[in-house]
Amino acid sequence: NADAAMYHAKDEGRANFRFYSPELNAAALENIKLEQELRGAIAREELRVYYQPKVDLSRRIVGAEALIRWQHAELGFISPAKFIPLAEHTGLIVEIGQWVFEQTCLWVKACHAKGFRPIRVSVNLSGIEFKRPDLVDKIAEILSKTGVNPQFIELELTESVAIGNIKDSVERMHKLKALGLSLSMDDFGTGFSSLSYLKELPLDIIKIDQSFVRHLELEKSSQAIVKSILALAHGLSMETVAEGVENEAQFDFLEQNQCQVFQGFLFSRPIPGEDFLKLLAESPVKEEPSKA
Ligand code: C2E
Ligand code: MG
Ligand code: MG
Ligand code: MG
Repeated sequence: NADAAMYHAKDEGRANFRFYSPELNAAALENIKLEQELRGAIAREELRVYYQPKVDLSRRIVGAEALIRWQHAELGFISPAKFIPLAEHTGLIVEIGQWVFEQTCLWVKACHAKGFRPIRVSVNLSGIEFKRPDLVDKIAEILSKTGVNPQFIELELTESVAIGNIKDSVERMHKLKALGLSLSMDDFGTGFSSLSYLKELPLDIIKIDQSFVRHLELEKSSQAIVKSILALAHGLSMETVAEGVENEAQFDFLEQNQCQVFQGFLFSRPIPGEDFLKLLAESPVKEEPSKA
């Protein structure tokens, strides 16, 4: 039994036998096991949506990103970086993605009902989901079912939307915007970037990938790239969000180069909705410009 073999091999301290050869692809076996587990994860209520704050220059919370979390009874916490690619590969991402979107809409709606000041919350949309012909209908259905104000919902797309028929992608993005949603380009600069498509895509926001932010205070090359992305985004009248901001030096550099929104462990990790609302309640309200 391949699954049993995998469990024992992973726990060699207790089980000093293996009945598959080490050459057998352990990663492949693990993926088979994970895939089986993932199929039941929604039903077993093992999935959660966490929210990571996005802040402005004054560190006031101005938004959030919804990020899925999977807590498995035996396997423990499993990173989305591990299971999202698997979910994409198996098609499970469609069900999971719709679930995350609906949970987020319900949460945003509930926050408004409780009187919290409205902020925009983003949901990641996989390229697999984006390419499905029924995407716009499904999104519209969930928006109307939950009754959320779409003005406060953003979809984070990846550069994969630019692969294939760009005309179709642009049309689909316009339909999503017509529903009232905002659109952002996630992990910008890491994908199939051709600058010519950027002016075609109806994007509101560009998110600078964290790989460019990680060594920003140390690397001239990262600094040059980040400066260019910010200049490009401003030229195209798009809002800019920096991902993965972990220290003050990175924050300073981004601030000096007119980045508008910041997301990263320096401000907060992704946290459960209830914890997020505590932070939001403490986060200062923006001063209204004086009328004098
Ligand atoms: P992403 O959309 O680029 O999300 C940002 C990732 O960076 C998150 O990882 C977040 O926890 C992490 N992060 C935020 N600030 C920092 C920081 O200061 N330092 C470091 N080192 N990391 C930071 P996470 O939650 O593990 O998610 C990984 C990826 O999995 C996401 O990257 C996204 O591509 C995918 N993902 C997560 N949830 C969903 C989902 O609901 N649907 C889809 N399609 N993909 C998702
Ligand atoms: Mg994202
Ligand atoms: Mg990202
Ligand atoms: Mg990413």
